[in-house]
Amino acid sequence: MSAKLIDGKLISASVRQQVTDDTAAFTAETGVTPHLAAVLVGDDPASQVYVRNKERACGKCGLKSTLHRLSDQTTQQQLMDLVAELNADESVHGILVQLPLPKHLDSTPVLDSIRPSKDVDGFHPENVGLMLQGRPRFLPCTPHGVMKMLEHENIDTAGKHAVVIGRSDIVGKPMAGLLVQKGADATVTICHSRTTDIAAVIRQADIVVAAVGIPEFVKGDMIKPGAVAIDVGINRVNDKLVGDVEFSAAAERASAITPVPGGVGPMTIAMLLRNTLEAAKQSL
Ligand code: NAP
Repeated sequence: MSAKLIDGKLISASVRQQVTDDTAAFTAETGVTPHLAAVLVGDDPASQVYVRNKERACGKCGLKSTLHRLSDQTTQQQLMDLVAELNADESVHGILVQLPLPKHLDSTPVLDSIRPSKDVDGFHPENVGLMLQGRPRFLPCTPHGVMKMLEHENIDTAGKHAVVIGRSDIVGKPMAGLLVQKGADATVTICHSRTTDIAAVIRQADIVVAAVGIPEFVKGDMIKPGAVAIDVGINRVNDKLVGDVEFSAAAERASAITPVPGGVGPMTIAMLLRNTLEAAKQSL
C-alpha cells in the first residue's frame, strides 16, 4: 500500500477532545448541559448500533442524551407528535431522528418538522439553504466530517477536481455543496446512477468521494495515480463492513485513502457532538 491512511478514529478523537473541553467550559459558565434527544423507530439492527454509539459518545464528552424508542407500529402522527414535544422542550438542544424509518413512515415531513435551531443533523431545508449560501447554522455531519479530515491531512481542495459519487440529500448533495463553497474552492462533479461512463469521470478526479452504498463500487483502476480517495460507504458483506471503494487496489494508486471501518464513520459522530454543543450555545 502506497497511500497514506487517513485515520478517522484518530482525527475524530481530537475533535471529540475539543468538544469535551468546550462543553466543560460552556457548562461551567452557564450551568447548561447540551442535550441531544435521539428518536429510534423500530428495531433495525444497524440503526440500533448507530444510536447506541451516538449516545455513548455524548456521555463521554459531557453531553446529555435521551433515547426515545418507538415501536415499528408507530404512526406518522405519533412520530410527528413526539418531534413537536421535543421542539417545545427547552431542555432539549438537538433532535436526531435516526434514518431509515420503517417503510410505512415518510421521513420528509418528520425532518421538516424539526425546529431548525435543533436540527443537529443539518437536514432541514432551512439549514441546507443556509449551508449552500455559505452562512451555515449546522453543517451536515458526514460531509462536514469529510471536510475536517481533508483539512487535518492538509489536503488542499482549491482548484482540485472533486468527483462525488452519490446525490443523496444526506451525503452526496451536501458533500458537493461544501466542496464548492468559497474557501474549499474545488471544481465539483456529481455522479449518480444515470451518469454515463462513470469510470471515465472518476478517473479524472483529484479527490474521489464515494457515497453509493455498493460494496467496492469504485475499482482501484478508476483512481487516478496520486488522487485522494474518501470512502463514505458502509456495507455489510458476510458480517464484515466494506466500503464503496476497492480498498487494497485503490490504496496502491491513491496518495491518501480512508479505511472502512475507522474512516468517515467516526467523524460523523464527532461532528454531531459538535453540532449539539453549538445548538446549546445558540439557544441562550
Ligand atoms: P443513498 O441515499 O442510497 O444514495 C446512493 C446514491 O448512489 C444515489 O444518489 C444513487 O443514484 C447512487 N448510485 C446508486 N447506484 C449507483 C450506480 N450504479 N452508479 C452510480 N451511482 C449510483 O445512500 P446514502 O444515504 O447517500 O449513503 C451512501 C453510503 O454511505 C451507504 O453505504 C451508507 O451506509 C453510507 N453512509 C455512511 C455514513 C458514515 O457516517 N460513514 C453516513 C451516511 C451514509 P440515484 O440518485 O440516481 O439513485
